[in-house]
Amino acid sequence: MTLLLKRFADISIAKKLYFTVGIMALLIGLELFALFFSVSTLSALRGYVGGEGLWSKGQKDAVYYLLLYGVNRQEADYIQYKKNLEIPLNDGVARREMMKPKPDRKLIHESFRKGGVHEDDIDGMVNLMRRFHDNYYISKAVAAWEAAEAALTELIQIGDQLHTEINRPRPDEKVIHNLLVRIEPINRGITEKENEFSYALGAGSRWLENFVLKLLFGIALTVEISGLLLAIYVNRGIKKGLNGILVAARAFTKGQWGKRAAVYARDEIGAVAIAYNAMAEKLEHHIRDTEVKNKELEQLAYVASHDLQEPLRTMTSLVELFKTEYGENMDETEAQYLDFISDAATRMQHLTKALLDYSRIGRDKHTEITDCNKLVAEVLSDLQTLLHEKLAHVAVAPLPVLLVYPVELKLLFQNLISNAVKFQAPDSIPMISIEAEKQDAGWLFSVKDNGIGIPPEYREKIFVIFQRLHSRTHYEGTGIGLAHCTKIAALHNGTIWVESAVGAGSTFYFTIQLENTESITPL
Ligand code: ADP
Repeated sequence: MTLLLKRFADISIAKKLYFTVGIMALLIGLELFALFFSVSTLSALRGYVGGEGLWSKGQKDAVYYLLLYGVNRQEADYIQYKKNLEIPLNDGVARREMMKPKPDRKLIHESFRKGGVHEDDIDGMVNLMRRFHDNYYISKAVAAWEAAEAALTELIQIGDQLHTEINRPRPDEKVIHNLLVRIEPINRGITEKENEFSYALGAGSRWLENFVLKLLFGIALTVEISGLLLAIYVNRGIKKGLNGILVAARAFTKGQWGKRAAVYARDEIGAVAIAYNAMAEKLEHHIRDTEVKNKELEQLAYVASHDLQEPLRTMTSLVELFKTEYGENMDETEAQYLDFISDAATRMQHLTKALLDYSRIGRDKHTEITDCNKLVAEVLSDLQTLLHEKLAHVAVAPLPVLLVYPVELKLLFQNLISNAVKFQAPDSIPMISIEAEKQDAGWLFSVKDNGIGIPPEYREKIFVIFQRLHSRTHYEGTGIGLAHCTKIAALHNGTIWVESAVGAGSTFYFTIQLENTESITPL
């Protein structure tokens, strides 16, 4: 049974459905057949019961006319007697023919028709008799019919003798009397057999009715139960299979790279699970590879920027030393060259410091439930001098309380706000607004300014490390601030982008989608 279920589980869903519908159709077909069989059998039985009524009437009328003939001695009564006998006699011919191995159907039809049976009932009656003559009820009825016919033969002999005696020149009254008194007991005997015939057929049809009802009920119950069980089984298989894939996919999304979908069967869902696992396998391989490479790169950036600081510091101090020692003897050009070297070394120090900061982002990260209003207020307080100097207006809409990496998020706001203040046309007053909006998954933040804007072709480029659009003489900077922001947004499973109009300002958007961010209610 288990093996059978396993095999069934492995066939395609389409085939499972066909199989289920096929079983239903078969059982319903069986039910219809049983119904047809019972209706035609009961109809044949009705044919026999009707035929028996006519048989009985013919026989009773024959007895009546024979007795009348015995008393009145009118030939017309004798003829009537003979005529009424025809019905049972013809039925007898049909019965004997039906029992033959190769019956003459034409003769049977003719005889039953003469016996008063309706043409449409005859075939059913013949089939019933031939198929079920061994059946208890049918054989009992046939036995009663044969016995009645035997008694009828006796009656016919009496009728013949009576006719002969009455037609003699001098009929013997005693003989006639003796013949007439024999008729009634025979008549009673036949009536008994007729009753037996009717009872047997009645009991047979009741048994058949009962049997067919139980059969139909049984099949209907089987159709319903098996349909229900098959539907539940197929449905469970589909649910189980899909759930296996869902669980694996969710776990994969949460970073459990090794999680695979359980394959329960070799059907379409099983095939999807296998394909999913193959895809997850490949992805896991790539992710692990990328993770290793990223770690190596981070390490490289860290080591390089960290170790570069030292020679740069030496360079700057040596230049200073050189200036102090030989400054007086240098001409203007020589002193300018030394200043260039010193400037370049300082710039490089800034760059390596920025690179070091970049590689450090997320190194010692920790999440904390953070009130973003407070976090932004702190940033504004840190930038107080700059904001004051530029007469900047900053409007902050109510922000949510979220589970975030606070140190990193603070840096992100700091970069965006200081850029918003920095990239302004000369003499313009910075107008900045900060907002947050709940999304289906996570939160969308925006920092809007009225600055110089960014041409469309640079809107992606500016997020790349060390990419700047202006010379340092116009706008100060290292070109690493937005690279920091991209890394911090990614740390929060989010993204960052900008929408801008040159000369009219820019809006930087970033999303935060940390797992349990959802559970925290906004202020
Ligand atoms: P930095 O600010 O050090 O130049 P960033 O990475 O922060 O480096 O920015 C990269 C470049 O993107 C900037 O040099 C500037 O050209 C452009 N940019 C950034 N923010 C703005 C802004 N709010 N408005 C206009 N341009 C901006």
